[in-house]
Amino acid sequence: MEATVAPLGRKAGPESDILVLLRDFTEGDRINQMRTDFIANASHEMRTPLASLRGFIETLQSTAKEDEAARERFLPIMAEQAARMTRLIDALLSLSRLEMNAHVPPSDLVDLNDVLGHARDTLEPIAADSHMTLEVERFAKPAIVRGDRDELLQVLQNLVQNALKYGRPNGSVRIEAKHIPSLSQHARGRFAISVIDDGPGISAEHLPRLTERFYRVDVDSSREKGGTGLGLAIVKHILNRHRGELAIASKPKQGSTFTVMLNESQPAGDRASLSTASK
Ligand code: ADP
Repeated sequence: MEATVAPLGRKAGPESDILVLLRDFTEGDRINQMRTDFIANASHEMRTPLASLRGFIETLQSTAKEDEAARERFLPIMAEQAARMTRLIDALLSLSRLEMNAHVPPSDLVDLNDVLGHARDTLEPIAADSHMTLEVERFAKPAIVRGDRDELLQVLQNLVQNALKYGRPNGSVRIEAKHIPSLSQHARGRFAISVIDDGPGISAEHLPRLTERFYRVDVDSSREKGGTGLGLAIVKHILNRHRGELAIASKPKQGSTFTVMLNESQPAGDRASLSTASK
């Protein structure tokens, strides 16, 4: 609610009439504001690598035209700036696709053990390149959820890539998989997948804002590590569509734990029908 107070009439004084305008910020206003902020942020993020590319192109066209050493130095930086633009555009497209499908819950049956296996295969080489270790636990039994396999894989990739980016140099990242049974036979249990790093951690004031689009604890460190500021926003959108949740626990110097919670596809009492459905 916004209040504007102004004196009415010529003489402003204790006895003059006062006009009070009350303006209610509706949900619509808030969404419009968020949209405007998002467009401003996205444009700013795209302008930065573009400005850098233009600068290098101008230098190469003029002073450094005949300078072989300068060309060799600039070209990899230019390639990285172009790659950054591509990552940003890919992330923006993912977000817009997720927003379009936000109200359509996924209908396939997915075994989270398959997703964990695939995540391990794609992420182990990346961990090895960064001289870090990745340990992936699986559920003791098939862990079936209603979901989109690619989107769930994307969730794990984003969380593990963050753990590798912001974790301790030469540190370790662990994925733990736990089944949380329901207390009643006819209610659904849950599956918890935690991505745990032994990095510098995040202080409490940042935690509630981490899934906001373009929110970063340290903008320079994120950019330097190739971040777009959209990874956790994408995770949140995917989990919303899956009626899942993300819990973040972190303390400075003690590492971070990002836990994904997903509902089991069927109540324990109805499992018999699942094996037929998943074939
Ligand atoms: P980015 O592309 O910047 O990594 P994300 O949305 O994935 O964007 O993450 C938002 C911010 O959260 C990051 O910039 C970083 O500051 C912080 N963050 C995410 N994961 C971790 C982690 N495992 N350890 C420390 N900080 C993290």
